[in-house]
Amino acid sequence: MNRLSRTSAVAVVAVLALGLAGAPARAHEPAAPGGSLDGKVILIDPGHQLGNSNPRFAKQMSQTRFNGAIVKGCNTSGTATNSGFPEATFTWRVAKQLRKLLSQAGARVELTRTSNSYDAWGPCVWDRAKHANRINADAMVSIHADGASSGSRGFFAMAPAFIKGWTDDVVKVDRRLAGAMIDGMTAAGAPPSNYIGNQLMVSRDTTSLNFSNVPTVTVEVGNMRNSQDAALMTTRAGQRKYAEWLFAGIQRFFARS
Ligand SMILES: [Zn+2]
Repeated sequence: MNRLSRTSAVAVVAVLALGLAGAPARAHEPAAPGGSLDGKVILIDPGHQLGNSNPRFAKQMSQTRFNGAIVKGCNTSGTATNSGFPEATFTWRVAKQLRKLLSQAGARVELTRTSNSYDAWGPCVWDRAKHANRINADAMVSIHADGASSGSRGFFAMAPAFIKGWTDDVVKVDRRLAGAMIDGMTAAGAPPSNYIGNQLMVSRDTTSLNFSNVPTVTVEVGNMRNSQDAALMTTRAGQRKYAEWLFAGIQRFFARS
């Protein structure tokens, strides 16, 4: 590239950067080229939906499916802090922060739900997994928070058990993804679970893990019933921390693969 075209290239980049900075927020953050996650397709699954507890949607919530292990429901309303801050709102806010970080690193990011509203429900957990299959995601990360006893704190990851015809195609990669989340998040400073050994829970009956055909992990990022975790979860700065920790885990996964 000669000096003149380099100068014009710099000018074009500057104009593009200005354009992006001034653009309104949109459902799909445009991916930044040249990042460490260049071209990776990542599905963020912010657990639950505010309206799952709305009696109006009782019928939708009562749908069930066999998930390879047991028959389970469409979705649940999730947990909340003792002061009533709902898991659905927490995971939604963390997901939006995480989307920003992933997009800045060059990933193409989609979310399993597009709102956080008492007037919306679902999608059902099996449909969240099918979303990942449909876009052939390089990773699906489900964000949840636990509702355990008050002395329990910290994050852990969930990976599927081996179920022939269901998880046999992903059980290994899912274990690698869970391991990378655990290592990356711990290294970035996320408080590790003090009640789940090695921060890993192997689950036979988590619907999204069983229905997914792509690398998938569920992360319980903290315990909403623990006062220390809740203090972090209810502030914007704390929510940003959770997003950064999840981002570090995802980066670790792709750095290893
Ligand atoms: Zn949950």
